[in-house]
Amino acid sequence: MYVVNLSAELFPLAKAGGLGDVLQGLSLELARQGAEVEIILPKYKNIHLEKLKNFHMEYQNIPSYENEIWHSNTIYSAATDNVKITLIEDHHPKHYFDRDQIYGYSDDTCRFIYFCRAALEYLIHQKRKIDILHLHEWHTAAAAPLYRSLFMNKLPIKSIVLTMHNLEHQGRCTFQDLYSVGVNDNQILEKMRDDNPAYYNNLNLLKGGIVYSNAITTVSPTYGKEILKDQGFWLESALHKNINKLHPILNGIDDNVYNPAHDPLIAEHFSATYAPEHIKEAKWKNHEYLSKKVGLSTEKKPLIASIGRLVPQKGPELIKHAIFQTLRKGGKFILLGSSPIKEIADEFAQLKERFKDNKNVSFNFEYNEALSHLIYAASDFLVIPSLFEPCGLTQMIAFRYGTIPIVRKTGGLADTVFEIDEQKNVGNGFTFTNFDIEGINSALNKALDLYAKGKTLSIAQQVMHIDHSWKKAASEYLDLYKGLLK
Ligand code: ADP
Repeated sequence: MYVVNLSAELFPLAKAGGLGDVLQGLSLELARQGAEVEIILPKYKNIHLEKLKNFHMEYQNIPSYENEIWHSNTIYSAATDNVKITLIEDHHPKHYFDRDQIYGYSDDTCRFIYFCRAALEYLIHQKRKIDILHLHEWHTAAAAPLYRSLFMNKLPIKSIVLTMHNLEHQGRCTFQDLYSVGVNDNQILEKMRDDNPAYYNNLNLLKGGIVYSNAITTVSPTYGKEILKDQGFWLESALHKNINKLHPILNGIDDNVYNPAHDPLIAEHFSATYAPEHIKEAKWKNHEYLSKKVGLSTEKKPLIASIGRLVPQKGPELIKHAIFQTLRKGGKFILLGSSPIKEIADEFAQLKERFKDNKNVSFNFEYNEALSHLIYAASDFLVIPSLFEPCGLTQMIAFRYGTIPIVRKTGGLADTVFEIDEQKNVGNGFTFTNFDIEGINSALNKALDLYAKGKTLSIAQQVMHIDHSWKKAASEYLDLYKGLLK
C-alpha cells in the first residue's frame, strides 16, 4: 500500500509542535507494519538536512501555478528508515518556503495552497498510482478540493484522508486565493465557504478538506466528540454533515526517541525495569544537572514543569497560577515555552523579571528540544491545564520518563490521564475538570501531598510501563486505509 503524506512539519527536520512528532512516529510505524510511506513537505530555510540520508535532487522545474504564472520548483528526496522524504523548494519570487520560520507570515494560506498544488504536480511526474493521500491540518487540506477540481483525471489517487490535529486553526482565505491557483469551479468553492458569519465571504481550507476527503480523523476519541458539540470552532455543522467519515484515532509517541534508557539528551539514563531506588537516583541526577544548568536551587524539593506553546489553548493563566501555588507550597517550577502572542509573552516576561532572584523558578522562553528531554527526565510532575487538547503528547512523553501529569480533563488528556487513587492502586496522574484556579489548585495540592508522603516514586515507576507507542494507532490507520480501498 502506497501512502503519501502532505505535511507542514516533520520531526527532526522541521518541528514546531506535536504535528512534527506525529508525522515522524506514525510514518515509521506504518512502514514497519508494511506500508510504503512518503512524506512531502516544504524545503524551509532552516530544515535540518544533516539528519537525512541519500539527500539528492529528484526533479527540476516541477511547475506550480499562481496568478496566471507558472512557477518552477525543485524536488529533493531522501530516505530515513524506509520512509521516503520529499522536499519542495519553491522558486516563487516571494520565497514562500525559504524563510526563517515554518509559520507566522501574513501570506501563510497562499504559501500552503501553493505547496499543495506543487505537491500534486510533483506526484503527476512520479507516474505512480497512489493508494492513500493523507493530508494533515489546514496547511495541506487544500489538496483535497484542488484534487477534485483539477487533478482527478491526471493523477490516480484511490482515497484521501484528512487528519485534523487541531481545529482552532483552519486556514481562512479569499475566493481569489483559490481562483489564483486555478480552482474555478464555484460549486466546489461554495462548499468551502466559512460557516462563521463574521467570515462569510471567506473560504475555509480545513472545511474544504473535510468536505472533499474520503475520511477524516481526529487525534483522540474525546476530542472527536467535543468537536461535534462545542469545540469545532464553527465547523460543527460541516462535521455533522460528514459524520460518517469521522474516525477518531488516539495518537502515539515514538518510544525510541523518548526513551530514558538511551536518550542522548538526558544526564542519567534509567528505565522502568530498574529498582525504584535506582529510578529515584537517576531522576535526581537529572534534576540536579538541570537545576545547575538553568540556575535553579539544587535543594531536594518537588519539581513541577510546564512544556509547551504559551497560547490560550494551553491555559497560560492557569500555568501562571500553578507557578504561584507551587512556590507557596515549597516546590520548584520550570517552564519551557514561548508565545507568539505579544500580551502573553509580555506577561510571562514580567513574571520572569519579578522572580529573577528566586532560585525556585526558572523561565525558558525558547524552543529547545534538548532542554525539553532533560526536563521530562528531571521533573516529578508535568502540569497541562489546557482549555482544550486535541490529543496532547507531553503527558505521554512524561509517562515515559516517570513524570506524573497534572491535567485538565479534556480531549486526549481525558483519554490518557486517570485520577490516582492510592487506596485502589489505580490511576496515573491528577486531574481536574473546571478551568479555574480552584480546579488546578485541587489537582496540584494532591500531587504535592503525594510527594510529601514519599509516594511519588512507586507511581512514577508504574506510569513508565504505560505503552503509548505508535503500534496500536498505526494499525488503526492501516485498518482505516484498507477499509477505504475495498
Ligand atoms: P501542540 O499543541 O503544540 O502540538 P503537543 O502536546 O501535541 O502540543 O506536542 C508538543 C510537542 O512539542 C512535544 O513533543 C513537546 O515536547 C514539544 N515542545 C513544545 N514546546 C516546546 C519547547 N518550547 N521546546 C521543546 N519542545 C517543545
